[in-house]
Amino acid sequence: MKVFEKDNNIFKLLSEAISEGIIVVNEKQTIVATNGSANTIFGYDTDELVGKHLNTLIPKKYHHGHKKHFDGFVEHSEKRHMGAGRDLFGIRKDGSEFPVEAGLNPFAIYGNNYVMALVIDITLRKEQEQQIQDLNAKLEQKIEERTEELHQTIQELKEEVKLRMEAEAQTKESLKKERDLSELKTKFLSLVSHEFKTPLSGILTSATLTGKYTKTEQQEKREKHLDTIKNKVKYLDNILNDFLSIERLETGKVTYKYSQFPLSKVVNEVVYDANMLLKDGQRINYPKDIDDYVIEFDEKILELVLTNLINNAIKYSGEHTVIDLQVCFEDNILTFKIIDHGIGIPKKEQDFIFKRYFRAENALLDQGTGIGLNIVKTHLENLGGSITFTSKENQGSTFTVTIPTTNTHES
Ligand code: ADP
Repeated sequence: MKVFEKDNNIFKLLSEAISEGIIVVNEKQTIVATNGSANTIFGYDTDELVGKHLNTLIPKKYHHGHKKHFDGFVEHSEKRHMGAGRDLFGIRKDGSEFPVEAGLNPFAIYGNNYVMALVIDITLRKEQEQQIQDLNAKLEQKIEERTEELHQTIQELKEEVKLRMEAEAQTKESLKKERDLSELKTKFLSLVSHEFKTPLSGILTSATLTGKYTKTEQQEKREKHLDTIKNKVKYLDNILNDFLSIERLETGKVTYKYSQFPLSKVVNEVVYDANMLLKDGQRINYPKDIDDYVIEFDEKILELVLTNLINNAIKYSGEHTVIDLQVCFEDNILTFKIIDHGIGIPKKEQDFIFKRYFRAENALLDQGTGIGLNIVKTHLENLGGSITFTSKENQGSTFTVTIPTTNTHES
């Protein structure tokens, strides 16, 4: 075929200027022309390939498939890229395989069909692609590992934060307790210095005066001062008991002791002690028919509750008034009512009366600490009981206490 003879200047001129390999084959797949680049790519000398079958350049394993492709392609005869979607391989003279990219251009000259293949050795590109793929895979792997590590670190951090918050809450709680206690003690000290002053000087005066009544007939006067002393000592004792109660409640050291005891024992003792505090003409009206009640409760707490309420009734009502203590037992609930006809509690202050240290305005002339009702309520609620009141200023107050108990005397 004259057109592709080696001294054909046009083909040579054109093809040698191109860096891609050019291989021209006829219908029988016989190579009729190659350029220098094609020879270099496949490792042949000039014109060594001419006359050889195209299969010389294709690895054996693709021969069969390639024939079908070639025939089909020549029939349809159109320009296209070869091996769409597949990797193509060539084989060098030394037998080594390498990846190629090929574009096919069919053409006809003088009634003969030819195909011109433009071939590029893409070994380097493939290697780079592979490297990039490897790098990407490594990167992905690393990202996965790091993400996992991050998850773990975040989890650990969360746990740590949780632990720290718990520890902080505990520290805060104990700090608060400590602060509350030290506040309590400071308050106690200022209360003691303030609240104890008057009774103590009263005690001192009475004791001094008692010493001066040396004559036998002055016994009545002596007794009056001794009563005053007893009265003030009892008052101070009550304040101390209230404070001890608060401290025990605050530190969680309070323990309740249930025992069986006759109700009349506690009532009589409370009334006996309260009698020492009575003002001129005051009288306590209390039930004398309760000998049948033997109840099960914390005796000391019941005593503390009744003492506080009766002492308040005495303190906050005037001379020549009656204080009623009523007892009622129904459905395993023991109810006490302490009724006085004293100064009462102003309406606007009634909501705060159980708050610790709270004292109503109209009570400020009387001595007091504002802690009695607070601890009474706390103890009662701890033991399943309750305390409520009704009151009218200048008319009096009624405090109602309930405690759950059984009358063991009957059973
Ligand atoms: P304190 O009597 O030492 O002030 P309490 O806690 O016993 O403390 O009482 C708190 C306040 O409730 C009193 O300061 C007073 O204002 C009011 N209060 C309590 N009982 C009575 C009562 N029977 N009559 C009028 N006011 C009362």
